[in-house]
Amino acid sequence: MANNFDIIVIGAGIAGASVAAHLAETKRVLILEMEDRPGFHTTGRSAATFEPNYGPPPILAFTRASHDFFMNPPQGFSDGPLLVPRPSLFFEAEGQEIFTERLLASGSGLEELSEVQALKHFPILRKGYAKRTFLDPQTGDLDVDLLHRSYLKLFKSRRGQLFNNAVAETILRMGKVWEVITPQGIFEAEILINAAGAWGDVVAAKAGVKPIRLQPKRRSIGVIPVDGIQGVADFPLVTDVGETWYAKPQSGKMIVSSADTTPVAPHDAYADDMAIAEGIERLMTATTIQVNHLDHSWGGLRTFAPDGSPVAGFDPHTEGFFWLVGQGGYGIQSAPALSRTATAMVLNENLPQDVIDAGLNLAEVLPDRYS
Ligand SMILES: Cc1cc2nc3c(=O)[nH]c(=O)nc-3n(C[C@H](O)[C@H](O)[C@H](O)COP(=O)(O)OP(=O)(O)OC[C@H]3O[C@@H](n4cnc5c(N)ncnc54)[C@H](O)[C@@H]3O)c2cc1C
Repeated sequence: MANNFDIIVIGAGIAGASVAAHLAETKRVLILEMEDRPGFHTTGRSAATFEPNYGPPPILAFTRASHDFFMNPPQGFSDGPLLVPRPSLFFEAEGQEIFTERLLASGSGLEELSEVQALKHFPILRKGYAKRTFLDPQTGDLDVDLLHRSYLKLFKSRRGQLFNNAVAETILRMGKVWEVITPQGIFEAEILINAAGAWGDVVAAKAGVKPIRLQPKRRSIGVIPVDGIQGVADFPLVTDVGETWYAKPQSGKMIVSSADTTPVAPHDAYADDMAIAEGIERLMTATTIQVNHLDHSWGGLRTFAPDGSPVAGFDPHTEGFFWLVGQGGYGIQSAPALSRTATAMVLNENLPQDVIDAGLNLAEVLPDRYS
């Protein structure tokens, strides 16, 4: 009986860790992770940014409903701050008027700045680059590692079990029970949660469930030295409204990306040197910075459903199979509210009122939209 659980979660990234931590309060929960440690894939490779004006409508709702948690986590949850405010500047470059319209249509709390004001926040802005500039004071840096570790710590304190090196190789439906065969053993549960990130459709196919047509997209990030530039640590996150590049300070250096979105198959992602070179070139066009070499770089997979919104809910055709995938480039900032919502759905409880109040339209995240 030791291998029998109420719920098996496949994947120990932020999605699996956060939902499992909540569910373990009342259920016997097992997480299966194929790598030798949680967070090896997308969760360990993010830009660690909280941006409540970034993403499709369900993500905006989840992100905004996560803000209080990040600022005031429950007593004992984490041993340090999860979110440290850092404003963002959105620049409208030549020809990007349409993207400004979109930003203003869905965004809230944005303040337009003059060039003089923008330079006060970001002194290396190249004069004349930005036709318009918008300040978002609500953004910040997330401590992703701390958040992820804290959810796993909570999970374990609630007697949840996590197996690493436990790829779900074979997934069988035996009557009302899922049987998952892994190198660590065979495990059973009535409910299976697919939190496998880029591998979400792979896991579905193993379970005989119709895939969503998830698309992992590679994103590359370069880290550049900024020696000799004053006050870098206090620079805002900077980006253009067309999302063709972004940069922000990190540990005495700056990260830069061309915001690449190259469709790829699920794999252990690596940075695309060309994409990073483009990001650096765009940064040098927008600023007075001169970049002569790269400190280091990394790549990761942002995984999207066809409509760009996350997928959370029981599969309409297969009993006991719960989807928690497609968080795209927003899976950290939305995790606290998305995991509470997913937990309520798994337990067949009322959805959290604050998430509804933040604007969630449940139909926009249910897997039923792909049935
Ligand atoms: C470059 C980059 C920048 C980003 N920046 C931000 C940001 O600033 N803010 C933000 O909110 N989000 C950001 N994101 C997005 C965010 O990182 C993701 O949305 C989030 O990490 C997804 O978490 P996940 O748990 O779904 O996936 P993952 O972290 O990939 O976890 C899935 C896990 O499932 C495991 N798995 C897969 N198949 C199996 C199997 N068969 N058996 C067992 N285990 C399996 C994998 O090993 C993996 O550990 C960024 C992403 C990238 C790549």
